[in-house]
Amino acid sequence: MTIRDLPQGEEIRQIRESVRKLCESFPPEYWREVDRNRAYPTEFVQALSGAGYLSVLIPEEYGGAGLPLPAAAAILEEVQHAGANGAACHAQMYIMGALLRHGNEQQKRKYLPGIASGELRLQAFGVTEPTSGTDTTSIKTFARREGDHYVVNGQKVWTSRAEHSDLMLLLARTTPKEEAARRTDGMSVFIVDMREALKAGMTIKPIRTMMNHSTTEVFFDNVRVPVENLIGEEGRGFRYILSGMNAERILIAAECVGDAKWFIEKASAYANTRNVFGRPIGQNQGVQFPIARAYAQMRAAELMVHHAASLFESGQDCGEQANMAKMLAAEASWAAAEACVQTHGGFAFAEEYDVERKFRETRLYQVAPISTNLILTYLAEPVLGMPRSY
Ligand SMILES: Cc1cc2nc3c(=O)[nH]c(=O)nc-3n(C[C@H](O)[C@H](O)[C@H](O)COP(=O)(O)OP(=O)(O)OC[C@H]3O[C@@H](n4cnc5c(N)ncnc54)[C@H](O)[C@@H]3O)c2cc1C
Repeated sequence: MTIRDLPQGEEIRQIRESVRKLCESFPPEYWREVDRNRAYPTEFVQALSGAGYLSVLIPEEYGGAGLPLPAAAAILEEVQHAGANGAACHAQMYIMGALLRHGNEQQKRKYLPGIASGELRLQAFGVTEPTSGTDTTSIKTFARREGDHYVVNGQKVWTSRAEHSDLMLLLARTTPKEEAARRTDGMSVFIVDMREALKAGMTIKPIRTMMNHSTTEVFFDNVRVPVENLIGEEGRGFRYILSGMNAERILIAAECVGDAKWFIEKASAYANTRNVFGRPIGQNQGVQFPIARAYAQMRAAELMVHHAASLFESGQDCGEQANMAKMLAAEASWAAAEACVQTHGGFAFAEEYDVERKFRETRLYQVAPISTNLILTYLAEPVLGMPRSY
């Protein structure tokens, strides 16, 4: 059984078809091996990048395809639906949004064509720090202006793909929090050329995690960043980061929908073929219902993803919908993952069925890039008007 696509027009249908085809060249054995070795799926990322899928959101004048967000969401959904892991490269699609929206023309001409061709990898996003966590305004990494450079000191954590990136989008304080007019002021965004920084003060330390995610800690010891690499105005960086978050949430939500589809198809297929007590296990409603429920959750989340993406594309405020899409899709993928494990019984735990790998991978999305609690806080407080909790 293959889950049918919701109608989204001919262009997206064709994109989905070609992404599926590309993913067929990367069979489960490939993903098992990179997972087992905690290796980076270089060949897969190169194939996606070479086919232009990672640059679809970059306007044509800078070498991209200039496609709308629903097309990017369809690509990532298909990658996950195929059993692949887009986490290795999804950020190449959306980190550049800060540069595109807030960078000056010179910066865009310098970086975007290389990012579009895949020659320049901008897929490291340095926001989270060990001591501040979700409380981003309390970050400590500081960029001090010294002539025509900023000198950066501090530490980031969970900077994914840092070892597989040429550039990093870095959020650092340029005014201490206590001296800023508002806590959200006094932070700035920089493009850090990691190839240069690694020669002079930047250190990357990999973090081994429960899934293959190429995530790291990054240390800055007097790293010099040219003033021309400041994005937008000094002190307004938090706003620039926030403005990119809706796109990020919608795209991650699309990945969760893809994961959910993979789990639901896998579980249904197994329920049809596994015979116990002389009949398929899928004949038992105790086996059917969790899969059917996860399917309904996935379809509802999928509609919210499409709704949020079309609001985003028409330039309307979509913070509420992007957050709901992310939360509902992450919950749907987890419900589907749970049902898939339970349906497979003991075999769910065997590497060769791929269920345990996808189960580990999809769990992340209830924590990162934003945890479910923080989404609920956003819905309860600014959206529904209840008192601020922090
Ligand atoms: C594998 C992985 C990859 C990541 N990649 C990146 C990356 O590339 N770049 C980057 O900058 N970051 C990255 N992150 C960081 C990620 O965004 C954070 O882990 C996430 O935002 C949660 O922050 P935290 O881990 O510091 O949790 P904390 O902020 O310490 O929170 C811990 C728990 O407490 C809850 N909590 C905290 N405050 C409240 C509150 N006020 N109300 C209710 N509950 C609350 C949270 O929901 C959470 O469940 C990654 C994380 C992981 C695990």
